[in-house]
Amino acid sequence: MRGGAGDVATGADPLDDLDRVLFHEGEIHRRLDELAERITADFRGKPLTVLAILNGSLVFMADLLRRIPLPLQLGCVSAASYHGGVESSGVLELGGLDRRVVDGRHVLLLDDILDSGLTLSGVAGRIREESDPLEIRSCVLLAKRKERPVEVAADYVAFEIRDEFVVGYGLDFAERYRNLPCVGVLRADVIAAAGR
Ligand code: 5GP
Ligand code: MG
Repeated sequence: MRGGAGDVATGADPLDDLDRVLFHEGEIHRRLDELAERITADFRGKPLTVLAILNGSLVFMADLLRRIPLPLQLGCVSAASYHGGVESSGVLELGGLDRRVVDGRHVLLLDDILDSGLTLSGVAGRIREESDPLEIRSCVLLAKRKERPVEVAADYVAFEIRDEFVVGYGLDFAERYRNLPCVGVLRADVIAAAGR
């Protein structure tokens, strides 16, 4: 029996809240093998820093990094955007930037998903303003096929998906589901129950 929002309190398996799975763990890992091979070839011999955007890219970052056998450094940054009224104000607050791992190095920015592109372009812009990297490239687990308000394309994309809301493998809905080993689409009734 499903109790709607009540499931949260019962501790039911979060996998039960999915309508369908888009990518199982095995498929994600196989794709990361390919992506990591390209990244390794592209950055060999260069001072590389992988910069993960918290929190959504943490699971992706951990699995990807362990497939890149280069002497890289790791950093994490947080990004918060502030929306004034209906239009995005375009103001992005960048937290946690450590210039010691960025200045004079090739930066590979990691995010969970490319949606409007405002996060990735905003974070890259702030890093350029606040520090001195040799280069910034970007890598996302997922990219939605859609028109974007800003001109931004990730250099490395694991999977392209339709424009729908997904969770799992780092991606959340109200801070839940980040620990799912797969990426999937939530059941409509779960989303509706959260809004009540
Ligand atoms: P953008 O700035 O490209 O519009 O959005 C990037 C951020 O929005 C992602 O890092 C993620 O936190 C959130 N986001 C966008 N689309 C989705 C989605 O389908 N599912 C989840 N869980 N988060 C999303
Ligand atoms: Mg998020």
